[in-house]
Parts: sequence; C-alpha cells; structure tokens
Amino acid sequence: TEKHWQSAFEIVGRLREAGFEAVIVGGAVRDRLMGLPAHDVDVATAALPEEVKAIFPKTADVGIAHGTVMVLDPAPPVEVTTYRTEGTYTDHRRPDHVEYVTSLKEDLRRRDFTMNAIAIRGDGSLYDPFRGEEDIMRGIIRAVGKPDERFAEDALRMLRAVRFAAKTGFEIESGTKAAISRHAGSIRHVSVERVKMEMDKIWTSGRAGLAVQLMAETGLARHLPLMDRAFSGETLGTWEKFGKPERTVEGWALLCFLAGEPDGNPYKLSNSEKRSVRDILAAFRIGRERPYSRMDAYRLPETALIAGARLANMTGEASVSAEPGAISRLKNSLPISSLKDLAITGNDLIKWCGKKGGPWVKEWLANIEEAVVTGHLDNNREDIKGWFLNGIESEG
Ligand code: ATP
Ligand code: MG
Repeated sequence: TEKHWQSAFEIVGRLREAGFEAVIVGGAVRDRLMGLPAHDVDVATAALPEEVKAIFPKTADVGIAHGTVMVLDPAPPVEVTTYRTEGTYTDHRRPDHVEYVTSLKEDLRRRDFTMNAIAIRGDGSLYDPFRGEEDIMRGIIRAVGKPDERFAEDALRMLRAVRFAAKTGFEIESGTKAAISRHAGSIRHVSVERVKMEMDKIWTSGRAGLAVQLMAETGLARHLPLMDRAFSGETLGTWEKFGKPERTVEGWALLCFLAGEPDGNPYKLSNSEKRSVRDILAAFRIGRERPYSRMDAYRLPETALIAGARLANMTGEASVSAEPGAISRLKNSLPISSLKDLAITGNDLIKWCGKKGGPWVKEWLANIEEAVVTGHLDNNREDIKGWFLNGIESEG
C-alpha cells in the first residue's frame, strides 16, 4: 500500500543519513512500474543486519540467517535485507547460507527475472542494470543472466516464471522458456511447500488456464504430483474456463478431481484446506447430478456450495445453477444452521420419553434436525415434542 511505500522511503532515507547505501527492490518496484498496488515493499542495503538494528530501535529478526531484519518503526513494517549473493547451490534448491556483498549490482544479479531486479533509489530514480523496465514495457519475463544456470541453481524459478506469466499475462522470453523445457525434470528436487506456495498464487491469478498450458508445454507438469495426470490433453479446456476463483482451495479441488485424488494430500495442504477441498468436491459431485437440496445446503459451507457449482458448470455437466445469489438465498432460508440451533437437546428427548440414554438419542436428534431443515417441522419445543413422542411410540 501507499503507507508501505512511505515507510520504505523513510527507512531508505535514515539508512542513507547513517552513511549506508539503500534502495527499494523486488516485487513492489515491478508492481509499481506496472501500475499495480503492492502488498509489501522491500528495502535492500549495504548495511549489515547488526548495523540496521543499531539504527532502528524496533526490529524483529525474521530472516536474519538470510540477512533480513524487519523494521517495525516506522510502521507499517518493512523487511530490510543486506545486499547479498547466494552461496553455492546443491540439488537445485536454494542455498542455506548467504554471502553479503557491497555492490547493489551483485545483489540484483542473483534475482530471478529482469522485472524483479530493478531498484528505486531514495530520490525516486531507477537503478536498472538488467533493463527490467524495458522488459516490463514489452511484456516479457526474462531470466537475469544465463537461464540454464539460473534454473540449475534453483529449480523453483521455473514455476515462478509461470506464476508471473499467469499474474501479468506477459510472455516468457523464448530463451528463458526453452531453458525451462530443458530443466523441467529438476522441479522434482524442490520441496512441496515451495511448490504449493507458487500454485496458490497461480490458482487465484486469473490466468490459471495459461499457467496450466505453460506447465504442460514445458514439461513441468509431468514432474509434479497430480499435475502429471490433470494437466494434459482434454483437461486443458476445463482449466481454460477456470477464471479467477475466490479461494486457492478451488484450484486444489479441480486438480484433485481431475487426478482422482481425495484432498490434495501430496501438497501438504493444511487440515482446513483439506476439509475445504473435500467439501467442494462433495458439492461438485451433487451439482453435476441435481440442484442442491435444503439438506445439501445445510451440510456444506456456502463457499463450498458456490465453488462446487462453479466447477460443475465449468466441466459442462451441471444440473445446479452457478449463480451465487441463488445459493446464498437457499442457505439463508434454512431455519437452523447447526444442531445447536435446535430448540431442544438430547436431554429433553430422554426426559420426555423416560427411556435411558443411548445411541437412539443421536438418531432421533438427526431425524428432528432433518425434519426441521426440510421444513416438515417447526423449530419450537412444543411441535418437536409432539412430533418426537408420536414417532417414538409408533416405533414401539
Ligand atoms: P510477490 O508479489 O508475489 O511477493 P515477489 O517478486 O515480491 O512477488 P518474493 O517471493 O516476495 O516475490 O521475492 C522478492 C524478491 O526476491 C523477488 O522480486 C526477486 O527479486 C527475489 N527472489 C525471490 N525468490 C527468488 C528466487 N527463487 N530466485 C531468485 N530471486 C528470487
Ligand atoms: Mg514480495
């Protein structure tokens, strides 16, 4: 936000007063040149982390091992990272130690793409040795330096290129793209956590279809779990219609559906994400067969019902309407939203019929719940008592 920019410029000014070179770098600079809002603004400086901490009274050691100190005052917080290169790479993963350098150009050289390797000085002028601004103007994603070397160092960069293509609609420069095809297999060495973070951004980018197409074309998809099955041939058309979902779990749900997997387990989704994927898939399965019933609307969260209907319509086999308004109205028309909202409890049932507690209590609560949700029974104590006693008597 604008506040982050103000904070970052103030920090750059104070570092410079203390005699240290400092600039604003990274995604925020790229987004600004593209006219997009930035969520966080990063500062790079020649000052060492200890020197940064001596200048600013309030800091947090967020990534001190990588030379990053979070400056908390002025607020909002800004990450300040000492100019660095990355040491040696093993196994196509990022190195675990860094080396500080004194030249900004060296720091920019280790960055992935020209559009991410632009600095803004304290006076607002650009320092752009790799001509990132020109690439942004022309809509090109280009590796800094030799693409083969850069992808061999850190294979995740290939997926980042795809993510930036999805976010911006830019083209991946032909030499960079050819190198991705050559190195695609090494994406296997990257941790699933890092892959998941990129995929989350791809799902909500608005151009997931383009990303899937690029991953299939370059061969990246062949080396990633589930995507090897779900990003090919006839499924590309489905992804093309994916649009811009509200939540990342919608992407995981479609991926799981196409790959025949229940909940995204290979990507270490959180428990709540797995729950959401299962709920969306349940809604999707219903939505392909018939419109949602009142019980469906009761059992599943509104977000899952809306996402499930969206997917059903996308795969072209929908019986349910994808109009979110209609789904919200159905959900809002329900007399209760959980068992807690019933006017009675299990203890009431035991008291009324005089039987000892047991599994029957749960069963009858479920009967009452369904009768109330479907509109066959009013949610008040008198009506429920009569309906229950009548029913349990005829049960014998
Ligand atoms: P976003 O808008 O999603 O935050 P970003 O470009 O800021 O995108 P970050 O992951 O926040 O991406 O990284 C900040 C900067 O660090 C990047 O702009 C880039 O200069 C550099 N960077 C990040 N990851 C890598 C990487 N794997 N290899 C090289 N440089 C990287
Ligand atoms: Mg960022």
